[in-house]
Amino acid sequence: MLPAAALPTPLTPVDDPEFAAAGAELWLKRDDLAHPSVPGNKWRKLAPNLERAVADGARGLLTYGGAYSTHVRAVAAAARGLGLASTGVIRGAELAGQPRNWSLARAERDGMVLEFVERSAYRALAGGGQERRAGYYVLPEGGSNGLAVRGAAVTAAELAGALPDFGPRDVVCCPVGTGGTLAGIAAGLPTGPRALGVAVLRGEGYLEAEVTALHRAGYGREFPNWQLVHGWHGGGYGRVPPELERFASWFGTAYGVPVERRYVAKALWAVYGLLRAGELRGCRVTVVVTGLPDPVG
Ligand SMILES: *Cc1c(COP(=O)(O)O)cnc(C)c1O
Repeated sequence: MLPAAALPTPLTPVDDPEFAAAGAELWLKRDDLAHPSVPGNKWRKLAPNLERAVADGARGLLTYGGAYSTHVRAVAAAARGLGLASTGVIRGAELAGQPRNWSLARAERDGMVLEFVERSAYRALAGGGQERRAGYYVLPEGGSNGLAVRGAAVTAAELAGALPDFGPRDVVCCPVGTGGTLAGIAAGLPTGPRALGVAVLRGEGYLEAEVTALHRAGYGREFPNWQLVHGWHGGGYGRVPPELERFASWFGTAYGVPVERRYVAKALWAVYGLLRAGELRGCRVTVVVTGLPDPVG
């Protein structure tokens, strides 16, 4: 059985005076509440892949990631829920002999077998993403493939169901790592609303090409209703400059929402920045809360 999720996830308004002053609205789509052990967009992207793995009669799941990969933990938890084996190919041969960090320890507790590989070998494997192992269903690094895009599209379909007047003044915003979530949201929107992706790493040009490739993989065509902004990565993946930290802790306290820093904080930061630049006047902006903060330790 697939790990059941609490769907549709809640859609909640944020009563923010700056948005009100600009004739705009801010809403949060709480995908972080979808599932306790496979959170947020990781559940969305895995769900159709898990169905396929089970239908194919796979005995295990295999994927790739870094030492703190949320995707790797999600795959381990999902495999365990389905009674499947799991293997994680982890970047960094030097980690093999070290004590496990909390993230890898959690994956191992869920039964995942970890294989540590040199960075250069990892690049070739994860980039190709097509390693074959008898009986294993292989998921690419970050979990973004054509099926994942279709899973992520359900978030947009839920919004269309919850907002009767969903239309041209709607902007649906999400953070972008590999681009699978943005690709899905754009694909799942009806005509009218736009998808806005906030790059959390330096990837201008590259990320646009990834989103387009994922649309082709999932739907065999391209979509015109999305855009990426690149000014809000804060210096790169995992970087949280003091200004972003101040903003995220203010938002979390003011509105009682846990703000994950690597992704969600940057999407919210961008939305406030664009509002202050006058670019979201009159818009109803829905930020997809794609995940939870890491448990500490
Ligand atoms: C993995 C992750 C993302 C990135 O999603 P992509 O589909 O890879 O762009 C965004 N937000 C959170 C919280 C994540 O864990």
